[in-house]
Amino acid sequence: MTTERMDLMDARCREFTARIVGRRQTPAGPAVALDRSAFYPEGGGQPGDRGTIDGVAVLDVQLDAGVVWHTLAMPLDSTDLVSGAIDGARRLDHMHQHCGQHLLSAAFEREFGLRTVSFHLGSSVVTIDLATTALERGQVHRAEDLVQQVIGEARPIHARFVPAEELATITLRKPPTVAGPIRVVSIADFDHSACGGTHPRHTAEVGACLVRRWERRGDVVRVEFLCGGRAWAAVRRDHELVRRSAGRLSVAADELDAALERLVASEAAARTQASMALERALASEALVLRAAADPPWLVAQVLRGRPVDELRTLARLIATSGGTALLLTDTPGPQLVTASGGVPHCGQLVRQVVAQFGGRGGGRAEAAQGGFGDVGELDAALALARTLALQMAAAWPAPV
Ligand SMILES: [Zn+2]
Repeated sequence: MTTERMDLMDARCREFTARIVGRRQTPAGPAVALDRSAFYPEGGGQPGDRGTIDGVAVLDVQLDAGVVWHTLAMPLDSTDLVSGAIDGARRLDHMHQHCGQHLLSAAFEREFGLRTVSFHLGSSVVTIDLATTALERGQVHRAEDLVQQVIGEARPIHARFVPAEELATITLRKPPTVAGPIRVVSIADFDHSACGGTHPRHTAEVGACLVRRWERRGDVVRVEFLCGGRAWAAVRRDHELVRRSAGRLSVAADELDAALERLVASEAAARTQASMALERALASEALVLRAAADPPWLVAQVLRGRPVDELRTLARLIATSGGTALLLTDTPGPQLVTASGGVPHCGQLVRQVVAQFGGRGGGRAEAAQGGFGDVGELDAALALARTLALQMAAAWPAPV
């Protein structure tokens, strides 16, 4: 028993009647085999069709030893003739992506000798893997241009079973993977492939083929592309993005690139100016803190709400002038930042203080930093740090 493959004879057939010739239970649900079916079974990188049989949803379609099995959402009561209906929009989309793949693979092979080693047709992403480790943008554009030319020329597409003796006379881009009679899909004067998929009548039905991105994956380059309605939807999305972005910058769409370049340059300049202004402000603050310090070499302060990198700069500036800085902040969490141009060993001091409050930290003699868990202990940590710094200094002649 085999199923008559109506999908292979006429890819436009969407409704048909057939007889049930087999039933079986699968993990996904009950399945029926029909004497003939227009449902395309999953294979060759093309997903299986969906639709209904006598109104019951078809969840999966698989080919098993020449028999097409349709997995159903619920058992089918029918015992004799049944009516099948294919989800036409889904099938058409698959035909466009699948046929577009024939065109794109043929274009890469004809133009650059790049062989396609695999094909994936997903619900949103369609890819081919090319047998190469590098692909240039110029190559992608040339392949796209050739595909678009062949689409525009509306070249006829024929699928037929070819006898073995004739097969030897045809140069196949994609050789057969099955034994027995071989089905060859030919795009006039462009490509011959052994293929069991569904195809439109001519290339113009594919509409468009748009490469979206590509990346190296080991010893292949994976090329992501879209055809037909998917390509049109992507172009519209891109166009809307460009239109909105240009509107935000109050420029025409073709001025967007130059406007972005100006924006990036002015943002970098503004950032440099802001960082220089901050450095000047912190230098002034360091002088004020040093002037108010007691003893004059030891600046010990809690600076709530100040970012920790500002504290690091302040501490560095205080140390450069020969002082010692013990600075604490609560942003983003409790942190002790130290730098010393004198005697106290910052690394030892920080380790002792944060250990006392269940935190971690350390560093060099000249600068160190540590964090701990409780914001309520900032003042206690400051007092301990100050005491340790004074003890370290007492063991040595105090710096000026
Ligand atoms: Zn095909």
